[in-house]
Amino acid sequence: MAHIQDLTPCSYMRQWEQSSLAVGWLERGNAYPRGTVDETFFRALLRLCANPWQPPVVSAGVHLCSFCQFAGRLVGSSYGGASGAIGTANVFIPGETKVFVTPGMIVHYIDAHEYVPPREFQDAVLKCPEMRSMSYFKALKALGLPLSGYWPTAGEDESQ
Ligand SMILES: [Zn+2]
Repeated sequence: MAHIQDLTPCSYMRQWEQSSLAVGWLERGNAYPRGTVDETFFRALLRLCANPWQPPVVSAGVHLCSFCQFAGRLVGSSYGGASGAIGTANVFIPGETKVFVTPGMIVHYIDAHEYVPPREFQDAVLKCPEMRSMSYFKALKALGLPLSGYWPTAGEDESQ
């Protein structure tokens, strides 16, 4: 896993790169904004990260936390009954004009290392439809992600 500047195209996404913006691709040695976040945002993010939809063709490898001294391979975040995915999961969150792509590790970066994601990302998380809902996939598709062939439910079904 490599460092990617927040709000730049997510180079891991290959053919989706131009439709995506990276958030939370932190790595030791690169400064990042620190502070506190709103609890409502954190709970919403945990919920989305608990079991995120994954496109089968995209993998950015295993994410490890490079800030933790010992437990970077083991850490997870859970809070209020929700837990954040750690490991290979990436989370796709539709924004105003692009899709934010963040590693599941972001919940740990916020919780343990005081990372503060960009405001527009926080707004997108608060507005994001339920993971795997038809509204969720429609939002991704509207932002230019070529979902044909990756659509996990019944094709172009408009009934939901
Ligand atoms: Zn850590």
